[in-house]
Amino acid sequence: MPQGVFIEAAVCDMLKVLAATAIPEKITTGEAYRLLRDCSADSRPLLEQAARIRAQRTGRVITYSRKVFLPLTNLCRDRCGYCTFARLPDDPRAHTMTPEEVLAAAEAGREAGCKEALFSLGERPELRYPAHKRWLEERGYASTISYLAAMCRLVFERTGLLPHANPGTMSPDEMEQLRPFNASMGMMLETVSDRLLRRGEAHHGCPDKTPAARLATLEAAGRLRVPFTTGILIGIGETLEERAASLCAIRDIHARHGHIQEVIIQNFRAKADTRFAGWPEPDTDSLELTAALARVIFGPEVNIQIPPNLTSPGFGRLLRSGINDWGGVSPVTRDFINPEREWPAIRTLREVTGQAGFELRERLAVYPEFVRAGFVPEALRDRVARMVDSSGLVRPREERW
Ligand code: SF4
Repeated sequence: MPQGVFIEAAVCDMLKVLAATAIPEKITTGEAYRLLRDCSADSRPLLEQAARIRAQRTGRVITYSRKVFLPLTNLCRDRCGYCTFARLPDDPRAHTMTPEEVLAAAEAGREAGCKEALFSLGERPELRYPAHKRWLEERGYASTISYLAAMCRLVFERTGLLPHANPGTMSPDEMEQLRPFNASMGMMLETVSDRLLRRGEAHHGCPDKTPAARLATLEAAGRLRVPFTTGILIGIGETLEERAASLCAIRDIHARHGHIQEVIIQNFRAKADTRFAGWPEPDTDSLELTAALARVIFGPEVNIQIPPNLTSPGFGRLLRSGINDWGGVSPVTRDFINPEREWPAIRTLREVTGQAGFELRERLAVYPEFVRAGFVPEALRDRVARMVDSSGLVRPREERW
């Protein structure tokens, strides 16, 4: 029997087993890898299975979060090969937002109907740049995370937006500082590949991209019951086996703590003026296949997201892959991580979602099941309760198109 026929049969058998169970059995990294590898020639069985599993979860509802993006500081001690967000301190574009700037941007978001304040920032810049450390100390903060915690509180108390902090790796103490005024938090795992820390690879010179440090952050979030967003970045030099292992690692941590609210499948986009400017981008088939694999690995329980602005035009086809969320979209600020990739207008997001046979609904920075399970910090509970209906999604009258 030719090898290809045997592989195809094995994959079909695995998909049949998955299809016969309402909630997929735990699949191993090896099985996940084989699905990714063998379904690349014909992705339909995996996509169809992923769509069936999604239907168990949300029916025809696809969600998004209306947010304002607050790039608190673009200083970072890491040197990811694909990043244009981080700036060196002597770059005129390097900037740390003052409280006044944070509030002004958050207020503009509130006026535009946003509910989420996404704080995204570089990792631990004070450990690399003495001037930034002094900037913080002059204002009474021991670290960038302490400053972030104060800004989360300020934004919530003055605008009612729900903060979602995304500062990279966090210790349990740091998470405790942030937790009282964060509806949820996030950090992309990106990959479990230590290999990518080597010279010439994507994460060379990035102490915070050590997989063990990022997995420890996911574990800490679980122990502290923080609703947590994470995900993988595909196409940065990882092998298919490493990609499958990254998803399984997230799945295993979630199995211990039940706190992963969403898994983002993000595709690498090459940017000028980076080490990875000429690196090949993953194609949309590969992105869809990975998202479908994530749906099969996580089952109906976890929200799976692909950002729409990194596949445009034509992002509507991504709904074939079993995702149920488009992530945060802002009507007032750009995607500072991918500034060359504009978010679609929310009206367009609704039209594209509708054309594919789904209904777009707005969600908060914390998903309904985590609201119901009591994960929301006390200070934020009344505010959350006022914004959602019985499904846990934003009340239709609060939505703006
Ligand atoms: S991707 Fe994040 S961690 Fe890496 S250099 Fe950019 S800001 Fe820093």
